[in-house]
Amino acid sequence: MSHAPGPIPAAPVPSFYGLSRPRLSERLAELGVPGYRADQLFTWIYRKRERSPQNMFNLPAALRGGLGAVCDLKLPATSVHRSADGTTHKFVLELADGARIESVSMSTVKRTTLCVSSQVGCALMCRFCATGLMGLQRNLRADEIVAQVVTMGDALGWEDDRFNIVFMGMGEPLANLSAVSEAIRILHDERGLNIGARRITVSTSGLVPQIGELGAMGLQVGLAVSLHATTDELRSQLMPVNKRWPLAELLDAAREYGETVGRRVTLEYTLLGGVNDSPEDADRLARFARALPSKVNIIPYNPVPGLAWQRPSAEAIEAFVARLQPHAPSVTVRSTMGGEIWAACGQLGGLSPD
Ligand code: SF4
Repeated sequence: MSHAPGPIPAAPVPSFYGLSRPRLSERLAELGVPGYRADQLFTWIYRKRERSPQNMFNLPAALRGGLGAVCDLKLPATSVHRSADGTTHKFVLELADGARIESVSMSTVKRTTLCVSSQVGCALMCRFCATGLMGLQRNLRADEIVAQVVTMGDALGWEDDRFNIVFMGMGEPLANLSAVSEAIRILHDERGLNIGARRITVSTSGLVPQIGELGAMGLQVGLAVSLHATTDELRSQLMPVNKRWPLAELLDAAREYGETVGRRVTLEYTLLGGVNDSPEDADRLARFARALPSKVNIIPYNPVPGLAWQRPSAEAIEAFVARLQPHAPSVTVRSTMGGEIWAACGQLGGLSPD
């Protein structure tokens, strides 16, 4: 990790989206408003998707008029880019301090998945990732993470409100664990968005101690580990974080997490043509996958301008999967969505869709 996050800009009135229901209730009580109004506000904002206090008819007029002094309901200014087939949307969100983040929604017939950012940029410098090229500007606060989800839901018209959330956008979520876990608790609230742990996945490039911390928090969310190589030598070249926490330690931590939470860990493997797609790689990956409760997700590389990596040919992808599949518990190949609007995996980093 190259540098520490910059200071988080303080908001004078707290954002609604960073307040848990108990915290909102306390804040209302401090201002002489009965705490149960917090339940009503959660219902209005998260369930009825009402954005104007004036329309919240069961609140007293004084609270409707004065809500702006209690909490800030503003959502970030957003531009939305839609893929030609309409299945993928890339959102560029401008935060209060002018920082920009990118988030992506992907819809299939079964489910919409929201890919959420946890930091502005990223310090981990994975060699194949556009976000890594930006460096780390700062951590996101919990309210900025929750507001991302609400902003995307509003833009999509809440057509699917039982969506999955993956922390796979910009940044390393476990490097910002306190804000990410706080946001997850708010997203879980059954009076709010009510997004269960089964529908949330946190993806890490391999911060071993924080994997243990996440497991100990009891949030029960899914864990995805970005593996991308099967030897320490190659992984350290691709992902400098491997020099600090090599493969054996990472896989141990992932196994423990899976056992603690009772869920299979996803091993993410970006296939880089001629780099990590040999038959020996497939055999080693199968061995790793068998050693823990896991499923493997193969991601054929999505090109990033300025980076020399190649996507393997369709035949090479097929050969790798054919070699891996019989020996690994579960293998899926991620279909690439959003490549033409620079919204695919590893492409979030200010690349213009226009
Ligand atoms: S792959 Fe993830 S951890 Fe690595 S640089 Fe990109 S955003 Fe950061």
